[in-house]
Amino acid sequence: MPDLVIVGGGYAGLWAAMAAARRATDAGQALNIRLLSKDPYLTHRPRLYERNPGDMRSALAPVLEPIGVDLVVGEATAIDPIRQLVQMGPKDGNAVDDHYDALILAAGSVLRAPPIDVSKGRLWSVDDMSAAIALDQHLEQIMAMPSDQTVVIVGAGFTGIELATEMRDRLAEHGGDERAKLARIVLVDTAATVSADLGPGPRPHILAALETAGVEVRLNTTVARVEGDDVTLSDGELLRAATVIGTTGAQANGLAGQLATALDIKTDPAGRLEVDTSLAVIGGRNIFAAGDIAHAMTDPTSGNHPALMSCQHAMPMGKYAGHNAAALLLGQMTLPYEQARYVTCLDLGPWGAVFTTGWERQVELTGAEAKARKQFIMNEVIYPPSNDRDAILEAGGI
Ligand SMILES: Cc1cc2nc3c(=O)[nH]c(=O)nc-3n(C[C@H](O)[C@H](O)[C@H](O)COP(=O)(O)OP(=O)(O)OC[C@H]3O[C@@H](n4cnc5c(N)ncnc54)[C@H](O)[C@@H]3O)c2cc1C
Repeated sequence: MPDLVIVGGGYAGLWAAMAAARRATDAGQALNIRLLSKDPYLTHRPRLYERNPGDMRSALAPVLEPIGVDLVVGEATAIDPIRQLVQMGPKDGNAVDDHYDALILAAGSVLRAPPIDVSKGRLWSVDDMSAAIALDQHLEQIMAMPSDQTVVIVGAGFTGIELATEMRDRLAEHGGDERAKLARIVLVDTAATVSADLGPGPRPHILAALETAGVEVRLNTTVARVEGDDVTLSDGELLRAATVIGTTGAQANGLAGQLATALDIKTDPAGRLEVDTSLAVIGGRNIFAAGDIAHAMTDPTSGNHPALMSCQHAMPMGKYAGHNAAALLLGQMTLPYEQARYVTCLDLGPWGAVFTTGWERQVELTGAEAKARKQFIMNEVIYPPSNDRDAILEAGGI
């Protein structure tokens, strides 16, 4: 039986597993499908700015077991595209290699850390589960101190805005409303506007929400240096802040660069692998990539924008990669990845949210209505079905 190995148990990897199992089931043929991931959970990264970040995960086994996909918990350290091996970290002192007939690389992305000179301190983040839990514990500790607190958030993009507008409630959760009201929340960005990547449409709503949340915005500047609680901005201003959080965007997982070197191919500026319309890595053999690690074009009819590092792209890309990798092994037709619809839904804390459609980001909903949409996405859409074989296979259909 052919071996299909998927590296990464995030949105792309998990939906790839569902789609590959669906393709094999529909074809009435068998495949050995293995999903290798660092831990046995799907971490809901888009929810890590929220309170109780430790709850923001779903177990992988109840999704994979009913559809006959094996879960291997471990860390891939390198891909050998010549011998078709996934190399894994040493276990019991021995390196372990896993052979594949087809591979789906879905190892996601990591924070593109800002170039801040940090001494005697720490740059916090909400990039992964352990970082988000560590930040939450830190917020609990500082709110137990009698002094007033300042939180500096570096990067006024999607995540920075969501975190900044939510921060006062996060502080109140640990120290009560009265103390949270006294906190300073400072959002800094090197750009001349907030939400530079989101365009002008949603900006007035974002600015209104930042004001409602009492967030001080510092533009055309960044944090240059953190030395204990002394935080120096690039314009020379000195702040006293026990908390500096980086929300400066993402770059592809290092496995992309390692594979690109092995194949002698280039990655895009975010370190992503270039893929063709079937999501096969250009220059690779039987290797597909999906989610944050892949640079794919979305749809010629909508101007052919590249997929963003987002769940709304990672999940469909995962499905196409799973379908196509299975089709390749079963001798069937692959399908071109297409995704015309694009929406943005940005949480804006107590003010509500803003929901836009299209690549021009036409504002469709704001305030409480948009917040309800955001909560639907965060509580329903990004969760996989579990413990129900038919529902899981259904979700893997294209
Ligand atoms: C704070 C934050 C807020 C966000 N908000 C939004 C939002 O509102 N809307 C939106 O659409 N997107 C949002 N995103 C982006 C979104 O989370 C990602 O685009 C999405 O998670 C990408 O899915 P993925 O499967 O490609 O990668 P990931 O979700 O990163 O999953 C990668 C998986 O691979 C595993 N892995 C990594 N390296 C290895 C290895 N070497 N060996 C084995 N396993 C490995 C990881 O453990 C993980 O399971 C947000 C991201 C963050 C961090």
